[in-house]
Amino acid sequence: MEWNIAPEFCALIILTIVWIYEKKGSNIPSFRNKIFHGCLIITFMAISSNITSTIMIDHYKEVPLWLIWAVTTIYFMFTPLMGLIYFYYVVAIIYTKYSEVKKILIVAGVPTLCYGIAIICNFYTKSIFNISLQAGYIRGKLIIITYLIFYFYCLLSVCLVAYKHRKIEQKAANILLCFPILATLIIVIQQTHPNIILSGFAGSCALLIVYLYLQNKQIYIDYLTKIPNRWELLNMLDFLSQTGKKIEKTAIIVLSLRDFKMVNDRYGQQVGDAFLQKISKFLCEINPKGSVYRFNGDEFAILLNGEFANDTKYYINQIQEKMNRMWRVGEYTSYLSTAIGVVTCTANNKTVESLIQSVEYAVLEAKKGKNNYVCFCDDNMLAEMERKKTIAEILRQKLEDESFEMYYQPIYATSAKKFLYVESLIRMNDTPIGPIYPSEFIPIAEETGIIIEMTYIILDKVCKFIKSILDNNIPIECVHVNFSALQFSQINLGERVMEIIKKNNIPSNTIKIEFTESAIADSTDSVIKFSTEMKTYGIKMGLDDFGTGYSNVSTVMSIPFHAVKLDKSLVWMSMKDEGSTVMVRNIIGAFKGVGMQVVAEGVETKEQMETVINFGVDQIQGYYFSKPLPSEEALEFLKEHNK
Ligand code: C2E
Ligand code: CA
Ligand code: CA
Repeated sequence: MEWNIAPEFCALIILTIVWIYEKKGSNIPSFRNKIFHGCLIITFMAISSNITSTIMIDHYKEVPLWLIWAVTTIYFMFTPLMGLIYFYYVVAIIYTKYSEVKKILIVAGVPTLCYGIAIICNFYTKSIFNISLQAGYIRGKLIIITYLIFYFYCLLSVCLVAYKHRKIEQKAANILLCFPILATLIIVIQQTHPNIILSGFAGSCALLIVYLYLQNKQIYIDYLTKIPNRWELLNMLDFLSQTGKKIEKTAIIVLSLRDFKMVNDRYGQQVGDAFLQKISKFLCEINPKGSVYRFNGDEFAILLNGEFANDTKYYINQIQEKMNRMWRVGEYTSYLSTAIGVVTCTANNKTVESLIQSVEYAVLEAKKGKNNYVCFCDDNMLAEMERKKTIAEILRQKLEDESFEMYYQPIYATSAKKFLYVESLIRMNDTPIGPIYPSEFIPIAEETGIIIEMTYIILDKVCKFIKSILDNNIPIECVHVNFSALQFSQINLGERVMEIIKKNNIPSNTIKIEFTESAIADSTDSVIKFSTEMKTYGIKMGLDDFGTGYSNVSTVMSIPFHAVKLDKSLVWMSMKDEGSTVMVRNIIGAFKGVGMQVVAEGVETKEQMETVINFGVDQIQGYYFSKPLPSEEALEFLKEHNK
């Protein structure tokens, strides 16, 4: 018969393309990737031996007989192996761990093994095929077994996919079925056109589809630097953790570029990209092959595994040395400031999630330090991170059931000689981990954004407190509520504040909103807009912690503040020496000169109290008069002192 092997040549080309692409990018030696690689090798062997054998059989008189025998035997060996390895791939997709399925793999290999023995015996039995100088190639009586075994594996794959369809995604299941379906189609075509050899074509088409949908590594490659991305790092860590002990010898270094936005702003996006490419190239050069990942836009991760995990200090030194120098891209130069976070796998920290979380935490901590600062996430830091997570959880819980406690600290009005003001201060005394102080939980509430909703609940509680003061006929000017800088990111802030005040039916001028200079620095325009809007309702605005920030005096003046509160540190400093006394006195004079009231905070002693009265402050807050009190006690205090 005249064989048509053109489709087999096409199949070989398709397979080679898939193989080249499959080699690109990082290659995690996972069970699934290894089997896919096996699929490529076996299909390649089957097709090429098929082509070679067919050509040789066509020219059997010119080629040594033993060579035709050898190549044809290889072809017959590899054909059922194609079915077997494809079945293994289906298994690898369903059960990612090799150790789980070792037995299935061995049992499934038995028919192929028996067939292998039959193929070797074929030299004597000639039951599968025979090649002789007289008659050329002749099919044996049992040749059908070769194809039966192949189709047996196809059927097994279909059954496995159907049986485990809940464990795999619908899309993956459809893809896995393409091989058996293509194989069946080929049988049909083969029946009508027996001279066209199509088996390899079916195999490589199926592998192409599998590659495109299930094995494509392009989605794990960063488009800009061409190194693997964050997802591939997660895959790699996942792989290391599956193989048990391997993850224990792992270290991750994350290099974060600080203020990289400034490079983009100064030179444009394209030059910024070129800097990133250059850094990526440098990191790839100094680190072990395949260990560098683009972790985030301006962050790179280095995964050191096995023997390399002990050399973190060496790699960090290399990075620091280079990062201290100037970078150049074409005609552009720039120093690039960095923060470096490092984590090593320990008994307390060995899951993928905790490793990633802790290295991100280490980067955040490193950013608090100076340029090129390195932060190692040790067990102490891990405990700190765990505590932060617990506190965030408690905050979420308290936000949900609105169970924050509010304390109130009376503020003394110097001219009226009464406590006409009160500052509301949040407390979390009752938590599963004991009392937590505002200095600890407020920054966490800010980092997590919880502070925003929390403030509305606080305001509501404060309104209810004011209501009880008014119901008791206690004279009061207003209650101070603290607003975090983050609050000003809310577009509907004014509306929400008014809604809460109206709902509680209290006069709006009994509320004073206190915020710090950092709010003005972060969002000057929205603060000015909000303050002006609040003024129209009679709500007062107060600047808190004056003397701790760096705000511009003219900006402070442009906001309709009712009062400025001097920070405790400034009050305490004023007692130190003559120079400080003069300075604080003048600051107070300047604010009073433009019609603002001045509040002194942190007054603890009689001497401090007399000094600030002497300075001419309008209000005094401090332990000298009262510590913050629970609402009932605060109400009693006011009743008692404001008679
Ligand atoms: P802050 O707004 O400057 O509040 C004044 C802090 O000084 C309070 O600490 C108060 O207890 C303390 N203090 C008052 N008098 C004295 C004194 O004589 N001596 C000393 N050593 N301290 C005094 P607290 O309650 O621990 O609050 C700390 C910070 O937490 C507050 O500083 C504020 O920034 C934040 N915070 C507290 N409650 C809230 C709230 O409801 N919302 C927001 N956004 N922040 C709050
Ligand atoms: Ca305050
Ligand atoms: Ca303050």
